[in-house]
Amino acid sequence: MVNIVLFGPPGAGKGTQSEGIIKKYQLSHISTGDLFRKHLKEGTALGKLAQQYMDAGNLVPDQVVIDMVDDKIKSDGKINGYIFDGFPRTVAQAEALDKLMNGKSTPISCMIALEVSKAELVKRLLNRGKTSGRVDDQDESKIQNRITVYENETIPVANYYKNQGKFNGIQGIGEVDSIFKNICKVIDARL
Ligand code: AMP
Repeated sequence: MVNIVLFGPPGAGKGTQSEGIIKKYQLSHISTGDLFRKHLKEGTALGKLAQQYMDAGNLVPDQVVIDMVDDKIKSDGKINGYIFDGFPRTVAQAEALDKLMNGKSTPISCMIALEVSKAELVKRLLNRGKTSGRVDDQDESKIQNRITVYENETIPVANYYKNQGKFNGIQGIGEVDSIFKNICKVIDARL
């Protein structure tokens, strides 16, 4: 079993790279952003609660995110492992995830961090906003806020995994396939 935290700022390519990783390693994908968008579309109470935070580009409160991930994992049957995408985004979430996974004797294997410059991120997100329909991708001030939130609240999560010897930085600019190959090298070393 291999459990991967795919990490990086908004627009780093986590969703794109997740698709290849899931296919190749048959992992279960947990994207907290996708889960919130699903709730939003279905009009659930959780979706309504998350929307105000998402639209402004702020983080949904930790306990709400942790409970949602907890529920998702509990409802899964036997699987090969997980890829966590866009989670954990705070140190409190990382601690909760460790507790959850260690409790199942299936600890996090590694973090893979996609590294992309700020100018490239803004460009990618504005581009994505033209087709994704995502409100948070269409406004440059919201994008800037998401990057600021990432720098202030999420970057400490990388240090959390560095301290555990699980951090692997990968250059996130270039051909999708060559980035994918570099990701696979890290995963293969953990299998
Ligand atoms: P994403 O699709 O990962 O860019 O997430 C979209 C939005 O969902 C974020 O800007 C947050 O408002 C919310 N969100 C997703 N994942 C998390 C998380 N792990 N913690 C808090 N908020 C989250």
